[in-house]
Amino acid sequence: MTIDDLLHQYWGYTAFRPLQREAIDAVLARRDSLVVLPTGGGKSLCFQLPALVDQSAIVNRQSSIAIVISPLIALMKDQVDGLVAQGVAAACLHSGQSSDQRRASLDLLRAGTCRLLYVAPERAVGDTADGFRALMSTRGVAYVAIDEAHCISQWGHDFRPEYRQLGALREAFAGTSLHAYTATATPRVQRDICEQLGLVQPVVHIGSFDRPNLAYRVLPRVQFRQQLQTILRRHEGEAGIIYCLSRREVDELAAALAADGIRALPYHAGLDDTTRHRNQDAFLNEEIDVMVATVAFGMGIDRSDVRFVVHAGAPQSLEQYQQEAGRAGRDGLPAECALVTSPADFARWRSLLESDGQWTDSARTLLRDMEHYAAATSCRHRALVGYFGQDLAQGPCGACDWCLEELERADQPQVLAQKILSAVARTGQRWGVGHVVAVLRGESTEKVTARGHHTLSVFGLLRDVPAAELRGYVDQLTQGGFLSRTGDQYPTLQISAAGAELLRGQAECVLFRQPRPVKSRQRRTGPRTDASWTGVDQGLFEKLRALRLDLARGRGVPPYVIFHDQTLRELARVKPRNINELHGITGIGERKADAFGPAILDLIAQHPPS
Ligand code: ADP
Ligand code: ZN
Repeated sequence: MTIDDLLHQYWGYTAFRPLQREAIDAVLARRDSLVVLPTGGGKSLCFQLPALVDQSAIVNRQSSIAIVISPLIALMKDQVDGLVAQGVAAACLHSGQSSDQRRASLDLLRAGTCRLLYVAPERAVGDTADGFRALMSTRGVAYVAIDEAHCISQWGHDFRPEYRQLGALREAFAGTSLHAYTATATPRVQRDICEQLGLVQPVVHIGSFDRPNLAYRVLPRVQFRQQLQTILRRHEGEAGIIYCLSRREVDELAAALAADGIRALPYHAGLDDTTRHRNQDAFLNEEIDVMVATVAFGMGIDRSDVRFVVHAGAPQSLEQYQQEAGRAGRDGLPAECALVTSPADFARWRSLLESDGQWTDSARTLLRDMEHYAAATSCRHRALVGYFGQDLAQGPCGACDWCLEELERADQPQVLAQKILSAVARTGQRWGVGHVVAVLRGESTEKVTARGHHTLSVFGLLRDVPAAELRGYVDQLTQGGFLSRTGDQYPTLQISAAGAELLRGQAECVLFRQPRPVKSRQRRTGPRTDASWTGVDQGLFEKLRALRLDLARGRGVPPYVIFHDQTLRELARVKPRNINELHGITGIGERKADAFGPAILDLIAQHPPS
């Protein structure tokens, strides 16, 4: 069978996503490889599918097995459940298994039918791995895949000490190819992965980091609850995550939402283990819609239908923001990422890092880049991929507040710009954004009064403009070339030649501002209208969702292991009438058509035509 046939028969997909075919080819060619694809890009398939290709010709053994190293038990479990539901023989070995479960896995392994084995890093290498390696040597290892490979790097956002042992894989599985997979975009982490794993002349495939289905917005935090209401109203009954900076805020917000009738629960490291697990499971099993959480939540969260991620405060780096926001829309359907932020977030990080002795050059740079993103008035998609060193085609992306023209033009931009430039000039072109903003807003900070800047004519000149907005203007003037920033550690603002012309009234500029929140009590009534719902019978979709939940409960797996939303929407649009038509639906391979087909066809047949 060709890999295209396997894709159709087992996954029910008709085409490979970008770079999947190339990644699979590297495995089949037994070349070490590093594959970087964004979240939702379809990395799992790259190391799962080759296990179904007959390897006997190459490995010279009857039934060799593919090993997948995965950092989290929950992640392993989901993937194995998913594979089994598709009819692929897969098993896992980890410390969370009961002795019965372990015996079942080992039996499957000895029987020789198992194609994929998921193991925790410490099982594959390290002191306790001898038995496992002996077992593997009798079976023959087709290849070793390392999922979430960035965990091996101290430069990554999620370094895991147990991953460090993986350097020994090379010797432990001599003669076998190693394949690393990650969504982490920074070149330093990528290099580190190759070095630490000792990859030999690896084939490297790096996909586009852009996530076109995510709509990015940045909102100045003004009346957060109200701003949140507006977002929640767009997503009634849909799954979402709200990230807060403190545990207290998590608890308060979760309680407030629950009191408002929203199915929400808290998650943070201060909750006891049982509660934390229960809340996480409730989210995965669709018993709740909204998880209110600190950064402690997220790694290994495979729920693919997360339709929104709200940040109630900026994280300390753009990497982290991208990770967390990236948990939205893994199924490829439209989803929203809103960053609600104020300068206080950055001051807070700074003082936190300072008191922890971690206010290093790199921490400062990371935070400044985050701040820059928050204040920028340009395409968010471009800004994000640009940060990771990639470029996007010119033109509006159609999925960010800037390109959707949600930002408003400021009134009298010339006058505004002249006031800002004057403040830079009068304070001697020796100060950073924070100080200039303080002077313009008439804030008598220590620094301001010590320099006598409270006596300047520009002091308090823009008293009524919120600080976040003012910073935004300064950043725009910098991006527009009217101001320049020099110095790395504490950059100061200088007026450029173009800025001098603007000051003299010989040049023009345009400035934008974030819309201030409008009070509206309007609820979403009636059907959803965005393009991804075109032709979808929404009543039927909801019935299918309920059926999926039943099927999942009956099998003790999370609903997304059964089907993704994409499949449900297609079913509710195409309304297949028989098994043959069902085979044409994305995400329904042969095994799932057999197992779930009758129930689905019944439900569709009984649904009144719309
Ligand atoms: P990643 O691990 O890269 O974040 P996943 O492997 O979880 O991404 O895949 C994301 C989603 O895309 C999953 O629902 C998966 O089934 C789906 N998917 C993967 N490859 C394809 C494909 N070729 N066609 C359609 N859907 C796909
Ligand atoms: Zn855009």
